[in-house]
Amino acid sequence: MFYQSRSRRPLIDHAKGVYMWDVDGKRYIDASSGAMVSNIGHSDPRVIAAMNEQLEKASFAYRLHFENDAAETLAYRLSERAPGDLERVFFVSGGSEAIESCIKLARQYALAIGQAQRSKIISRFPSYHGSTLGALAITGYTPMHAPFAPMMVDQPKIPAPTCYLDHDDLTYHERGLKYANMLEAEILKQGPETVLGFIMEPVGGAATGALVAPDSYYRRIREICDQYGILLIYDEVMTGAGRTGKYFAAEHWGITPDILAVSKGLAAGYAPLGAMIAPDRIVGPVLDHGGFIHGYTYAGNPIACAAGNAVLDVIEEDNLLDNAAQSGAALKTELGKLANDFSMIGDVRGLGLLLAVELVKNRETMEPFDAKHMAAARLVDIAYDKGLIIYWRRTRGGYRGDHVMVCPPMTITPDQFNDIMDPLRAALGELQ
Ligand code: PLP
Repeated sequence: MFYQSRSRRPLIDHAKGVYMWDVDGKRYIDASSGAMVSNIGHSDPRVIAAMNEQLEKASFAYRLHFENDAAETLAYRLSERAPGDLERVFFVSGGSEAIESCIKLARQYALAIGQAQRSKIISRFPSYHGSTLGALAITGYTPMHAPFAPMMVDQPKIPAPTCYLDHDDLTYHERGLKYANMLEAEILKQGPETVLGFIMEPVGGAATGALVAPDSYYRRIREICDQYGILLIYDEVMTGAGRTGKYFAAEHWGITPDILAVSKGLAAGYAPLGAMIAPDRIVGPVLDHGGFIHGYTYAGNPIACAAGNAVLDVIEEDNLLDNAAQSGAALKTELGKLANDFSMIGDVRGLGLLLAVELVKNRETMEPFDAKHMAAARLVDIAYDKGLIIYWRRTRGGYRGDHVMVCPPMTITPDQFNDIMDPLRAALGELQ
């Protein structure tokens, strides 16, 4: 959005915990954590104090001139929490930058080990990996591509594992294998020696509405990548930093990707921050072959990293991973009950506090509403008027159905559920 434009949203005044207030004093419950960002809730005094302390010590120290303790400490703590051998941390300022970094590290690794013919990154459709041209090229979302198509490399896509839409005789386990094997078919079609990597969101974000695949999918994808020497990149921009009930979603399946991107919840909205985490077996050869030809001015910014450290402290002091798992399961049950009263609820899915509700015209066939109906968009607007913030991304021509994301901060407690469920029920009632 351009500033100075006429915006129909009210001005924010202040925010605390899971609530936000506009300048007219109206209260909202932030049931989407912004864009799945404010994982520890708003205005936590511990984070504010840590950022102030860093601001007073040194507000900025350029990475080519100084190391800074906040970045060093956070890198160490992330490497301790990241799966398997992921231990080298590269800081950036957001999700798209983290994904660009993954793409470039993968490519430079292939060059460093003498596999220059590897340049393709297979991704899923639909998916969202960011808005910069590299991240966009691997994003499975046609309308965002259209204006830039002549300027981008056309990267191959395979279908996302939308098992819940399938009408076949396969078991859930077999469906997972079916979708994973599409990766092998695509690798063979492209020529295995030309494929650099495969990127996936372990739990889908806004593009697929908290899509979780069968366990078999995750294991088979890892196997296929190993078999063909292809780097498995996990986009944990949204799932990372605790939202699914584990620090990284990869832990749910015991998978170690080759490269991982994290952002949104890392500094939880207190500062722009993201990171790429990779193992020494990948970073080492790149550094030994002329270094990583990539970087951003604000990488490892001390204020952002101080926020990241304080957010991690809050997550651990307040047991927010457990709360995300438990409150997430309880909230999912509450959302599931909506199906008893509203026939348009087609599916309720997700993991931890990354939850989505899919709206359909016909629950039996999962036939979506007509695009012109704009069901999810209208639901989000009606809910907003009632002081409930839920999330929907405008899909315009890329319309594939309707889902809204219900992803409150990891601090949410069941006694606050009514503030979400009451306006949501009322909004669904008005939408009928
Ligand atoms: N990857 C995923 C899974 C995302 O959800 C997003 C943003 O929504 C991005 C990448 C891009 O992040 P950013 O908007 O911070 O550039």
